[in-house]
Amino acid sequence: MQPETYTLMHRMYCVASSKSEIEIVLRRFKEIFDATKNSGKRDDQFDAAWALSCTAGLYARLCEPYLAEQSYREAIKLFDKNRMAMNAATICVALATFFWEQGRIHEAEAMLKQNIVYLIRHWGSGNRHVLAAEEELMHFQLTEQIIEASRHRWCKACNVDDYGVGFDFEDTDKAER
Ligand SMILES: [Zn+2]
Repeated sequence: MQPETYTLMHRMYCVASSKSEIEIVLRRFKEIFDATKNSGKRDDQFDAAWALSCTAGLYARLCEPYLAEQSYREAIKLFDKNRMAMNAATICVALATFFWEQGRIHEAEAMLKQNIVYLIRHWGSGNRHVLAAEEELMHFQLTEQIIEASRHRWCKACNVDDYGVGFDFEDTDKAER
């Protein structure tokens, strides 16, 4: 696809708000998927997986969690099959967030772990992107929250205290109330 097609489709994806608008955009992404899924070209395989991941987000907005999950999983599988580990990782985080929003904590955790597997495949272990993902997983296991943990400078749960302020003041604060 042309670069402007991605831009246009992405804009449609973002702007669609009513049920009928979302359904129209959904049809466009399905057309892209159908036109590219059987192609042997790497670019087409990318487009197919990309269209699937967008389809997933649209299904989620249509309150079709089962279909959304299937699309997310197929997108991950397709990116994986075509050795696009970086893209597979991105969708793992999207699916983790999707599960988390539904209170499906164990499934969210499994996806955050899978994200690390793909990132290691792409970057190698010890890379900063991998370390950030590991930090996110740890924070999630301790708090059941997804927060972009690699950005946190102070977190009692993870024992991160970059400012050296300690972890006691929160309790003191409560005691004063
Ligand atoms: Zn934390």
